[in-house]
Parts: sequence; structure tokens; C-alpha cells
Amino acid sequence: MEGEQQKKEVVLQGLGVSPGVAVSPAYLVITEDERYVERDIEDDEIAREIARFEDALISTRHQIHEIQTRISDAIGQENASIFDAHLLVVDDRSFVEEVIKELELKRKNVETVLHLVANRYADALARVEDDYLRERAADVKDVARRILRNLAGRKVSSLADLTGNHIVIANDLSPSDTAMMRNETVVGFATDLGSRTSHTAIMARALEIPAIVGLHDVSVRVLPGDTLLLDGNKGLLVINPSEERLIYYGAVAETQKTIKNELQRLRDLESETTDGYKMTLAANIEEPEDVDAVIQHGALGGVGLFRSEFLYLSRDALPDEAEQEKAYSTVASRLYPAPVVIRTIDLGGDKFLSQLKMPQEMNPFMGWRAIRYCLANPAIFMTQLRAILRASRYTNVKIMYPMVSDAGEVIQANEILEQAKDQLRNEGVPFNEHIDIGVMVEIPSASLTAELIAPHVSFFSIGTNDLVQYTLAVDRVNEQIAYLYRPTHPAIIKLIRRTIEVGHQHGLSVSVCGEMAGNILMAPLLMGLGADSLSVSPSMAPMVKQAIRNMSFSQAEELGNVALNSESPEDVLYACRELVKSVAPNLLQLVE
Ligand code: PEP
Ligand code: MG
Repeated sequence: MEGEQQKKEVVLQGLGVSPGVAVSPAYLVITEDERYVERDIEDDEIAREIARFEDALISTRHQIHEIQTRISDAIGQENASIFDAHLLVVDDRSFVEEVIKELELKRKNVETVLHLVANRYADALARVEDDYLRERAADVKDVARRILRNLAGRKVSSLADLTGNHIVIANDLSPSDTAMMRNETVVGFATDLGSRTSHTAIMARALEIPAIVGLHDVSVRVLPGDTLLLDGNKGLLVINPSEERLIYYGAVAETQKTIKNELQRLRDLESETTDGYKMTLAANIEEPEDVDAVIQHGALGGVGLFRSEFLYLSRDALPDEAEQEKAYSTVASRLYPAPVVIRTIDLGGDKFLSQLKMPQEMNPFMGWRAIRYCLANPAIFMTQLRAILRASRYTNVKIMYPMVSDAGEVIQANEILEQAKDQLRNEGVPFNEHIDIGVMVEIPSASLTAELIAPHVSFFSIGTNDLVQYTLAVDRVNEQIAYLYRPTHPAIIKLIRRTIEVGHQHGLSVSVCGEMAGNILMAPLLMGLGADSLSVSPSMAPMVKQAIRNMSFSQAEELGNVALNSESPEDVLYACRELVKSVAPNLLQLVE
């Protein structure tokens, strides 16, 4: 009892990526393939373990067939056949018999033995000098994971099933894990890995869950049953906080609540400067339900970035045309006439789809992702383009291509779009013939050749998350080099300015949709550099709106000029902070 009362307070410093304070018991997430307990079994349990294994194999085979059918219906037989390799593993008698033999020999539960045999198989395959066989190593691991889940009777990740409030602790979380935190029992999360612009962090802000990443070893320091205090502004995670600290944070939370309530009053007001310049303020969303937050937080400019790939994550089969059309139409109709920019799928990088079997790459962020993947898989791309076009009967729908590196990719994508239009015309399906097409400018080469891309599109949207990563050669999810990830670097300022100028010369509107736009220190800078609109995480919209409403356009322009003539990222950031401190000091209390 004494030990209970005197658990030592431990304070860990990480990177605060989603603001707010939370206090709750810890919930430790252990990765899927580790979640079983090794156990010795008695002789009379052997038959039962083998029966459990056979049952799990039947369920696994059944599930794989089901996924194949769904994928085949959605995007064709060719894509579904990638699961043939998984079926070969389930039906491989020598694999199955080896598991049974080991079970009898080692007298361990089937989970333990399966893990052992699968790893042995995968390791042997990985060493073979044959590309095809080497790839089968991943199949063996995938299938073993699925069998383990079936042995445990688990169908979905346990995060979705969590009951009671918790702060989730993990080594790392994928964006789809984070997407599963919508059930409101997760009041905060903290991870060993990650950075500010990882999609996991972006999801946390979208869901308004306070979060800290880059804590290095939090997943081994926190024990089940520990009480945690998480300060997402300062990036502090306190294990078993003291009474004084809890009292102090109670007061902080109260102040923040008051400021947020005041901001709520801006909901229906324009993002207009004191000298009458109207900035468009839109929001970034990941799923149709996020529209509630867009409306609630007063992003009157609609959706500047719909990360449509989130519709494809956390599920066994790809969404078909009808399902996608429904998702896009729901968003478009609820926000009409405010624009809704649907970005075509940006998979790869840190967002993967197990059912598409994207290859493991050394540099996934620079690899086979986004428009590159779509151009190589026209069937998948076509399904999405047709769905977006169908939804464009709501004329506020626009299309945007991600990760464009040159005009050629835009020309190619537009050709496929024209084919999609032809198909729908022939089928007599109505759509907007003049749908606006835009590109994300997020690779330096796109900014540097913006004049070649401009004739093929009607708007640019600057994706600073990737632009910073590629320009400064800083992996956006690597916490070791997070200190080098500086959006105020002079190189970034120059590229943003260039993109805006070229866009305007060609009569295009230019928006910024990276996380920089929702950073209250940097949003005024982007306005000053000439951006026509900002698209931000919905929860950040009220803060950005207040910053804009409290300053004049000429103050922002002056900041833009200072930035263009600054010599270091720190100088630019200092100037940004000084401006916000002078016009809206209360905002700093919400984020610092
Ligand atoms: C970006 O790169 O800035 C962006 C908005 O896209 P994402 O974060 O989804 O890569
Ligand atoms: Mg991007």
C-alpha cells in the first residue's frame, strides 16, 4: 500500500505534436506479432493445440479468399492474385507439419511454435539469391501474423476495443492505428519514435488528441497501471505525477479552456485582417466524419486537402467506386458551396496498405508512392478518378495530384482523367466537365519548374511537410534529426515565394496545406509571402483565424520581406514569434 502511494514521479521530454493536457492511466500497445504468451503444455494438451492450429488455418484461408474476392470486384483479378502467395503459405503442408512436429517436440503452445517456425522459414527465404523467393519471406510473416490473430480470436487491433479513458504508449503507431483512436477512449498518446509531420502526428491534431512523439524509450519506462500526465504543448510526459503538479496542470487546463471558448466565438467570422484583406481559411481532413470539425471550428473556406488515402487504410479490401463516391459526395454536399479539394491517393511513405503489397523500400518517402504509384496502377487510379468525377455533380469538388515532380506526370494523370471522363460520358453519368485540377507542390523540382506545370492545372497547393523533407534532406518521421526539420529555413522561404509568384503570373490560386499553414507562428508569414489560402488541421483553424484578424496585411507583408532577407531559420522564426506576441499573445499560451 505504501509503495502504491509513493510511486516515483518521472518526467520525460519529447516532441509535443498535438496540444492539450491529459491525465489518465497508461495503456501499453505491443505490436501484433509479439502479443502472445509463451507457455509450456502437458502431453494431454497437444491434441487440443493442434486442433486450435487447424481451426486458425481454416479461418485464415477463408479470410484470404474473402479479401481476394473483394479486391477482384473492386479493382480486378490481377491485383487480387497477389494473395495467391499467401494461400500457398497456408496450404504448404511442409510448413504446417513442421509446426505440428515442433509442437510435439518442444511441448510449447502453438503460438510460440508458430512464431518460431515462421521466423525460421522467413529467414531462410530472405537469404536466398532469388528475388521472387526473397519476397516470399514477407508473405510467410504476414500469414503467420494473421494466424496468430485468429488463434487469439482477434480481428481488429485492440485500440478500437479499448474501454475507459487511457493514454496510449507505444514504440510507434502507424497512421491507421491512430485513425482507430476515434472512439474517444484515447485521451492522449506518446511514442518512442515519430516527428511533427509524421501522419501519426497529423492524425492526432485532426482528432484533437494531445500527443508527444520522439520520447526514445517511453514504451519500456511506463508500466501497466501507471498514471500519466501528458502536456502536448511542452512535450512533457510525467509518469505518476505528484499532487502539486496535478494541481498546477488543473489550472493550466482551465486557462486553456477559457481561451478556446473565446476563440469559438470567431466561428462564423471571416479570416480578415484589420485592413480588410480576406484570407481563405480551409481545413485538412482525413475522413468524411471530419467535416463536423471543419464546421465546428469555422473553417469557412471548406476543405483544402482531403487525404483520400485514409479511406483505404485499416481495412481488408479497397473501397470501390460507389463507396468512394459516397464519401466524397457526403463531404461536398455538407460543405457546399465551399470548395472541397480531393487529393488522389498518396499511399507509400508512412502510409501503407497491407492488401496492396507495396514492396519494402530503403527510402519509402522517396519511393513508389502517390502519383507514381497511381500512374503505374491505372486501374486503381481510374476507380478513384471516376468516383471523384461522379461526386463532382457537386460543383465544389476539385481534384489534386500529390507528389508531382514534373509536368510530364501531370500530363499523364490528366490523360487518364480524360479517359475517365469519356467513360462516364458514354455511360451517361453526369459530372462537372470543368472540374478544377490542381497539383501539390511538395518536391523542390515542382517548385523550380512551376512555370512548366502551371499551363496544365488551375491551382497549386504547397505541401510544406514534404517540401521541407526533400529540400533539407531531413526524413520527416525521424526523431533523431527533428532539430534539422526547419520550415523557416531560407531555402524553404524562397521556394514558397517562387511557387506563389509563378502561380500568380499564370493566373492560378496558390494555397498552402502543409502543417506550416496551421502553425500560428508561421501562418502570418505565409500570408505575407502571398498565399491566397491556408488549409489547416480543423482544430488549429480558430487560432489561425484570430492571428489573422488581429493583424494588418501590411504587418504580414513586412514579415514576409523580413523572412526573404533573413539569413537563418532562427531569425525568421524569431520575427514570426514577435509578430504573434504583439498581436495575439493569448495564442502563445495555447501552443507553448
Ligand atoms: C504535405 O506534404 O505538406 C502535405 C500536406 O501532404 P502530406 O502531409 O499528406 O504528405
Ligand atoms: Mg505530402
